Amino acid sequence: MSDKIADLAALRAQKRRRKCPICGKPASEQSRPFCSEACRRIDLDRWRTEAYRIPAEESDEEESQPKPDDEEKDG
Ligand SMILES: [Zn+2]
Repeated sequence: MSDKIADLAALRAQKRRRKCPICGKPASEQSRPFCSEACRRIDLDRWRTEAYRIPAEESDEEESQPKPDDEEKDG
């Protein structure tokens, strides 16, 4: 009977164990969900680069068409 319980626990542990999204190695408890601090850093760097890539909210100008200088009247 205790065998079954142990089996269940093992199964749960397996389910909980995640793989490092960077290199695919089993994640470590210390640096979940990554396998190591190194991989965590890589992920962070990636995230940062992506963030920098996205331009800040572009303020769309309201019809800023150049006005023609045709206001020439003979005074
Ligand atoms: Zn890793």
